[in-house]
This record gives sequence, structure tokens and C-alpha cells, in this order.
Amino acid sequence: MTPFTFTRAADAFDAVQRAGQPEARYLGGGTNLVDLMRETIERPQALVDVTGLSRAIEERPDGSLLIGAAAKNTAVAEHRAVRERFPLLSRAILAGASAQVRNMATVGGNVLQRTRCTYFYDDDGARCNKRKPGQGCDAVDGFNRNHAILGASDACVATHPSDMCVALAALDAVVHLQGAQGTRTLRLTDLHRLPEDRPELDTVLAPGELITAIELPALPFARHAAYRKVRDRSSYAFALVSVAAAVDVEDGVVRDLRLALGGVAHKPWRAWIAESMLKSQPATADNLRAAARAELAAARPLSDNAFKIALAERTLVAVLEGLTGGQP
Ligand SMILES: Cc1cc2nc3c(=O)[nH]c(=O)nc-3n(C[C@H](O)[C@H](O)[C@H](O)COP(=O)(O)OP(=O)(O)OC[C@H]3O[C@@H](n4cnc5c(N)ncnc54)[C@H](O)[C@@H]3O)c2cc1C
Ligand code: SF4
Repeated sequence: MTPFTFTRAADAFDAVQRAGQPEARYLGGGTNLVDLMRETIERPQALVDVTGLSRAIEERPDGSLLIGAAAKNTAVAEHRAVRERFPLLSRAILAGASAQVRNMATVGGNVLQRTRCTYFYDDDGARCNKRKPGQGCDAVDGFNRNHAILGASDACVATHPSDMCVALAALDAVVHLQGAQGTRTLRLTDLHRLPEDRPELDTVLAPGELITAIELPALPFARHAAYRKVRDRSSYAFALVSVAAAVDVEDGVVRDLRLALGGVAHKPWRAWIAESMLKSQPATADNLRAAARAELAAARPLSDNAFKIALAERTLVAVLEGLTGGQP
């Protein structure tokens, strides 16, 4: 076992001070980090428990919500304002993990959970650029059924595993951060990276930067939303493909919409192309199919996952048909 110190942060500033040393890690519910420590993939020298920081879910006068990073996944999914105004988030969280894991997992930890690529977890022989930069990637020519079809690189073809983040990407969520230099905000869609030639970096966060809260801007049509997760079995399985969608539709015309895909890339994939093609257009079957096809046009299959391209297109169309009334 690798020895480490354990301290509890009193507040965000205190957390950042305590984490101001190499190889320190924040500890949320520990449902991912502790597993990684057991496998010696992560070997922190200092753990800073941040579960005592804000877990409040604040309803603000402009209709936005501010969710403290220490809020448990279950508390967020069950919160009245989330269920009423952002049901997409509630459904995405409930589609993930198990009740026991969701009771432990925090919002901050969910956002920063690491990939489920099996080679990443296999420190006993598998080559992985994310675990050991420069080592190579056994997934590229190996078992890659669950891996990325969009935005991957030769260095890494892993996917981001979070369901919650797919909803957050669609909902234009904003991440509130505290670092050694002060506070800042980032759009969630700008937080996670594509792998390029630095797959060891999952996000653009500076070392020691702490997520303090997630903000959901007001979005009236977010009430008209769906989250669909396609997976190999109905629980304890990560998404092969998932779709988060919120649509404002009137008289068969899409007035506005938000779309994101999960299970397809190194980051939650905001479907900007499909959104721009459908905005202000009739929600006909042809238009929905054309938008889905265009979004997936850049997809590149690996040896075992070509099926994901058709699966993503069809799931996107099916979700949109459900939300727009399925016109011919
Ligand atoms: C059996 C099982 C099945 C699962 N199935 C799914 C699934 O289907 N869908 C899904 O989405 N997820 C699934 N998960 C993953 C689960 O959602 C994550 O493990 C969980 O959300 C992580 O939250 P946590 O608070 O426990 O994070 P931790 O394990 O405590 O931390 C994860 C990472 O986040 C960092 N961190 C934590 N809090 C902060 C903060 N405030 N600021 C900065 N960094 C921080 C930690 O340092 C660590 O690097 C599953 C997990 C298990 C064990
Ligand atoms: S896909 Fe990424 S995480 Fe998986 S083995 Fe390759 S480099 Fe590692």
C-alpha cells in the first residue's frame, strides 16, 4: 500500500491550500478514486476530503440552479426543483450506477470520474498512454467495443463514462472553480478535453483546482426533455451510447433545442451540428435523420465498435421523434 495523509477541508479555500502539494487528490464519495487507489493506478500522497463543502441546491431568482459540488448524486436527482425544471439531469443521474453508488457519489466526483477503459485499469501488463504517457494504447488494436467513435486520437480512444455530464453538457451547465489564483467559471462543454497527444489530461483544470459548484442556467423548455441510455444490461453498465435532449417544439417546428451524446467520445459530446440543422426547421423524419447523420459524419469506427455509429444515429432520431411528436 502507498501511504497517504488524510485531512478534511473546512471550506473551498482551505481545500485548495491543503491540496497545494504534488500528488494530492480531492476525495468526494470515493467510489472511483478509492477503486483506482486499490488498483494502484492512483497513488496520491495526500487525500483532502471535500465532502464537507457546500452540498446546497440553491434556487435563484432568475430561474437558474446552483448545485454545490459536494451534493450527493441521489440528492440532486431527487430534488424538487431539479425534477420539475431540469428533469433531464434527474433522469441521467438515475440511469447511472446503482442506488448505493449514487448515495455516496458527489457532483464534483461524478464530473471528474475517470474512463472505464479496461486497459486503463489493468496496470499488470496492458499498455495505456493515459496511465503512463508514451507507453502506447492497447485499446486501439484490442478490445474496443465500448470505445470512442468521435474525437479520438491514435494515442487514446477512451470514452468519458458519466451519464450526469451528458445532461449537463446539453443544459449549458457552468462549472464554478476555486484555484490557488482565485475563482473562475468554465462551461462544462469546455472542461473535458479530447485526447489528442496528451490523453493523460482528462480536463483543462490546473493542478489542485477544485470544483465548488455546478450552475444550471434557466432554460424554460428544459422541462420537455429525455435521456436515453443504451447499454448491454439494465444496471451496473456504462452507456454504449446515450442521448440527452431538450426540445422547444411548436406546431411541428423545432424552435430551439439542446442535444448531447454520451459513450461516444473522450468528453460528453455536445451535438452542435445536429442542433444547428434542426433549429427553426420542421421536425420531419427526414430532417431528424439528416441531422443525426450529419452529427455522426465525422465518426471513425474501431475494429469492434462500428455498430455504435448507427446506434447513435438511431437513438438520436428516436429520442427526437419522441419529443417532437414523430411527424412523417
Ligand atoms: C459499480 C459502479 C457502477 C457505475 N456505473 C455508472 C454509470 O452507469 N454511469 C455513471 O455516470 N457513473 C457510473 N459509475 C461511476 C460513479 O458515478 C462515479 O464513481 C462517481 O460519480 C464518482 O463520484 P465520487 O464523489 O465518488 O468521486 P471520487 O471517487 O471521490 O472522485 C473522483 C475524482 O474526482 C475528483 N474530485 C472529487 N471531488 C472533486 C471536486 N469537488 N473538485 C475537484 N476534483 C474532485 C477526485 O480527486 C477524483 O479524481 C459507477 C461506479 C461504480 C462503482
Ligand atoms: S484508450 Fe486511452 S485509456 Fe484506454 S488503453 Fe488506450 S490510452 Fe489507455
